[in-house]
Parts: sequence; C-alpha cells; structure tokens
Amino acid sequence: MKIQESIARYIEKTGQTSLVPKAVLFDMDGVLYDSMRFHARSWYETACKHQLVATPELFYLYEGQTGDSTINELYRTTFHRDATEEEKRTIYAEKARLFNLYNDGEAMPGAADVLKAVRASGLQTLIVTGSGQHSLIDKVEHTYPGCFKREQMVTAFDVKLGKPHPEPYLMGLKKAGVQANEAFVVENAPMGVQAGVAAGIFTIAVNTGPLSDQVLLDAGADLLYPNMKALADDWENIMKAVRRAE
Ligand code: MG
Repeated sequence: MKIQESIARYIEKTGQTSLVPKAVLFDMDGVLYDSMRFHARSWYETACKHQLVATPELFYLYEGQTGDSTINELYRTTFHRDATEEEKRTIYAEKARLFNLYNDGEAMPGAADVLKAVRASGLQTLIVTGSGQHSLIDKVEHTYPGCFKREQMVTAFDVKLGKPHPEPYLMGLKKAGVQANEAFVVENAPMGVQAGVAAGIFTIAVNTGPLSDQVLLDAGADLLYPNMKALADDWENIMKAVRRAE
C-alpha cells in the first residue's frame, strides 16, 4: 500500500483538510504485548468447558469487544439466547483466571522500536485498550519505561462501549488533547480497526495474529504491516509522506 495514496484516501473519506499527527494511540494486546494467543487459549478452553460453540480463531475476530459481548455472542450461537448476568460473571472470571495463569507478559517484538521512532518524531504515545486485566496494565511502565502516562490510558474501566464502537478512541483523543486528524491508531484486531476508523482517525493495522490481511483491510485499515518491526522500519517514510501531504 502506498503511504501517500493512503493519506489522500483518508483525507477524502473523512472530509478532513489535513493529517497532522501529534499523538499515536496504541492498542495493547497483540500490539504492545504478544498476549493474544493467551487470551484466545483462555477463552477457547473456558468456552469448551461450558459446551459453548467456538473455535480458537473466533476470539481473534472478537478481540477488542467487551468480555460481556463475547460471552453473549457465544450463548446466542450455542443456545439462541443471551447469557445471564451470573453466567457472564462466572465465565469471565474463569477466562481471566486462565489468562493470568498462561500469560508470560512478553513484549511484542518490534514494539519498543516503534515507540522509540514515534517519540523521536515528537509525537505523544498513549494506550487505548479494551482490557481490564490489571496484570497487563500494571506491567506497562516496567516494559516501556517513560512511554505512557497512567492518567492518559484508556482501559475497560474508562468506557461503557467496547470496540468496534469509536468511544474508546474518542476518549483517547480527548486524553491526548488532539483532534481526529492529529492522531494515528495502531491496531491488530478487526474490531479495533473499525473503532479507530469510526473515530475518524488514520488507522494503521499490524497483522500479528492468524487472521488474513483482508479481514483488517475490510475493517477499514488505512495502512497494513505484517508486524511491529515492519512498522518501525517504515516509520520515517510515513512521517515523510505526512509532511509532503501538508
Ligand atoms: Mg489488540
């Protein structure tokens, strides 16, 4: 995908007059941490235990939405009804317990390079995640020292509506103090890409999971990279293209 063309397309489809990035809003699972395989495994094992119809890959498609929404969809598919509040609580607690057991807290390869490049360009860096896992949120400062301010993070505790609703990214813009055309979103999940696009933000997808590239492009990604290292390597080109488009 040519960067220059993507920028022109973004400006045309959003009706913006320019793209002047001042902040980058990073998703967490599958972008900053190599944690999605543990989420998928925990969800899948919990679903199987409760005889809910699922595949491991399904949870990559559901990534970004709230835990309650995921559990509801599993109940609708399997039993053709919504999950009760009690079922939601039980299933989510089991899934969270397994995730904490499996998760090794490994950083996503290349993510530190992306953060370094972004910050060298003078842009703010923020996290916008649907995760309510304290274990990961608390680890951020340890993994990426000085990159993120706790009070600027958007987590499951800050928003009512999960991705693909734009609310999390709109709140991210607010916390950064910038407009939609003054930010980038970096996302790995189709619903996360949809949320970034719905918030009117130039959205960069990194395909760090098992889904096809087309799923992320169909979700509306403005640019697509196979991994965070590739994004880091191309960062200077993105910034050059942005400056040329000004
Ligand atoms: Mg993600």
